[in-house]
Amino acid sequence: MSDSRTLLIRYDEIGLKGRNRKYFENCLLNNIKRALSGLDGLRFRVPRGRIMIDMASPLADECSRRLGFVPGIASFSVGYPVNPDFEEMAALGIELIEPHLKSGLELKFCVRTQRTDKTFHKTSTEINFEVGSRIMSAFSEKGLVVNIKQAEIAIEIEVGRGEIILFDHRIPGIRGLPVGCSGNVLSLLSGGIDSPVSSYFMMRRGCRVHFIFFDNQPFLGRGGLDKVLRLAKILNRYQTWGRVYVVPFQDIQVAIRDHCSPENRVVLYRRLMYRISQRVAEKIKCQGLVTGESLGQVASQTLENLAAVSCVVPMSVFRPLIGMDKQEIIAQSRKIQTYETSIEPSPDCCSVFMPSRPATKSRKDRLERDEAKFPWQELMQEAMDKTEVIDLDSQEGI
Ligand code: ATP
Ligand code: MG
Repeated sequence: MSDSRTLLIRYDEIGLKGRNRKYFENCLLNNIKRALSGLDGLRFRVPRGRIMIDMASPLADECSRRLGFVPGIASFSVGYPVNPDFEEMAALGIELIEPHLKSGLELKFCVRTQRTDKTFHKTSTEINFEVGSRIMSAFSEKGLVVNIKQAEIAIEIEVGRGEIILFDHRIPGIRGLPVGCSGNVLSLLSGGIDSPVSSYFMMRRGCRVHFIFFDNQPFLGRGGLDKVLRLAKILNRYQTWGRVYVVPFQDIQVAIRDHCSPENRVVLYRRLMYRISQRVAEKIKCQGLVTGESLGQVASQTLENLAAVSCVVPMSVFRPLIGMDKQEIIAQSRKIQTYETSIEPSPDCCSVFMPSRPATKSRKDRLERDEAKFPWQELMQEAMDKTEVIDLDSQEGI
């Protein structure tokens, strides 16, 4: 077995994008380069419809681990470069299959060849036969059987111009679109379970996601921010570069508590959060806001209340979780590895001064009447002036 490896990266969805294909390919390639930065001696190539990376074999595991975080990748394989020699290909196939054979048990296998170099002297079917029959004869009476449709192990061979790569499995990627190709959005990230999942969904649709957190430190302590930063770092693995905007929110909350109707508090907090988020989003060229709201999950997330908050901003508000139930959201948060951090106990800022009966059907006129009772524009400006920006380091936490 040679000590070099070639990683083969496939990307169906972006392959479908017609004339934009080159743009998507470049975006994905740059993201992969960023995700793999710090690993030496990688050689990147983009033959049609594929990204290939040549490397020394000890790097293959670390590269594979990191590629598992890159949106836009449909699947990838760690391949072995081989010579156009069927004996050599079969010998490698034998080496790869051997550990899977268990005495007395049948193992279904097949050889599949894809040939982009049409000048190669054998067709795909002939190559399958040449390599497959050699492997079969090595394992005669050891339980190996050919089964093309239900193969438990497939030895795949890609014959390209001037190179042949052999591999034995495909590792699923997270699919979707490469981060950055759809534009930028700003995600309202609280320390809960939902908003990290909604942020991830937007990344997977090609958005670079920056984060905004409304901090009520004097009432809740530094723990809330610390947790949000840890969540943002976990999420940043999927995009490698993003920012967190931390907005001091205590003065606004106190003013709402002191001047407005208790049942409107949560919706009023949200309206201020949305307004500030929109200003920040415009400044940093984000084209939409993202929240973790899901219809009917809590009192503030009824159709009426969602409308009462969305209407204060002219910008798109994306709610990727709107139709999901809590169990589905939890399952997704476990998958993206934010769940354990999200469930750490920490008070959330919207439950501060929580009224016992929040309104489920806020009325615009009553909300506006409440807002007229305190200088929210000034408080909003102050909060924005004191906003802190934190850069998420691309490598930290990967
Ligand atoms: P999550 O689990 O994400 O906190 P939740 O079920 O607790 O969601 P709410 O607290 O009602 O829901 O908040 C709804 C959404 O509003 C959140 O998903 C988030 O997008 C945004 N949000 C709430 N509080 C904050 C905050 N302190 N900073 C930033 N965004 C927030
Ligand atoms: Mg919350």
